[in-house]
Amino acid sequence: MAEKDTSNINESEFENQEYPGFNLDLLIRENIKNLAPYTTARHEFTGHASVMLDANENSIGSPVLLETGDRSEALNRYPDPLQLNLKKRISEIKGLPQENIFAGNGSDEAIDMLLRIFCEPGYDNIITLPPTYGMYSVCAAINNIKVKEVPLTSEYQMDIQAIADAVDDYTKIIFICSPNNPTGNSINRKDIEIILNNFDGLVVIDEAYINYAKQKTFAQQIMDYPNLVVMQTLSKAWGLAALRVGLAYASKEIIHFMNNVKYPYNINEAAQQLAIQGLNNVEEVNNWTRQTVEQRGLLELELSKLSFVEKVYPSDANFLLVKIKDANKIFLYLQTKGIIVRNRSTTAGCEGCLRITIGTMEENKQLIEALKSWIVKN
Ligand SMILES: *Cc1c(COP(=O)(O)O)cnc(C)c1O
Repeated sequence: MAEKDTSNINESEFENQEYPGFNLDLLIRENIKNLAPYTTARHEFTGHASVMLDANENSIGSPVLLETGDRSEALNRYPDPLQLNLKKRISEIKGLPQENIFAGNGSDEAIDMLLRIFCEPGYDNIITLPPTYGMYSVCAAINNIKVKEVPLTSEYQMDIQAIADAVDDYTKIIFICSPNNPTGNSINRKDIEIILNNFDGLVVIDEAYINYAKQKTFAQQIMDYPNLVVMQTLSKAWGLAALRVGLAYASKEIIHFMNNVKYPYNINEAAQQLAIQGLNNVEEVNNWTRQTVEQRGLLELELSKLSFVEKVYPSDANFLLVKIKDANKIFLYLQTKGIIVRNRSTTAGCEGCLRITIGTMEENKQLIEALKSWIVKN
């Protein structure tokens, strides 16, 4: 484990925990540790077979074919439960070994897996840092796991002391969203390192928007921190929200348990193949990301010129949080113009704010025009 950084915090605050240092064995639920996972026929066989009579599939074929590139493929066979071809491609792009990669049905599956592996319903708790992504607490509620909310500061950064105070013997996971949704900013790297160095439970960093950020990913740090899980997704910068593919990177021990607990065929064959195809278009995706970041700058500038805009928060993501007079009315007005944004005006910490996704150049122009017509009207 990396050396402890004690520069900004009285580390003893983090030490009122039962277990000394990070210990995966003590952290994992007993039933999960002892789980004999479902093994599929395809798990057990690694050679090449031409007659597959092991899985009760339809040997004749499938009524639709998957068209990918110049191939068309039948869908009558069960997909690879460990998605090795997909992980091979992700491994090449991210520079991480395949055994450190989990692929799920969206990031939401990774969140659910971690809660179910580490948190005993009715006993354990997690820490979230609102305002933040809603799925951590929804998923915890479904699993009957208590959520301790430690609000971000007025600058939308972590309150390290308050987090240390909230941690108890039953705190298993701290969820850090960076860049954060809905505020858009990245969480200070040094602060995240303090948590990683001092918290003996799991630290999950949700990097759904990392491609748009100036701050660099923590993915390469999974070898340094046994308690680190980094989540990414193909839903945002990769432009594949409809495929439902989320990724998590962690020690191979943690990934092993995630693979044991997930449903065997959690990513369907079409999604696996199309994801691989998408991942082969890195150049185009990088261009789009640059475009979006450029549009973010322009939109920020245009929005800040409007008299009723009080603040455009700095963003490292593909959206802007905008504090606005009459946020509710403007939200409804935009709807009448066929423009839908996210109303966050009643969310604690985001009072009076709308969250606006960066659109295409054309869409952003339409948005600004619509907002200007609101000024004229009022
Ligand atoms: C959009 C988003 C995700 C992505 O979820 P998927 O299930 O992978 O589509 C994850 N985390 C945050 C914070 C998000 O905003």
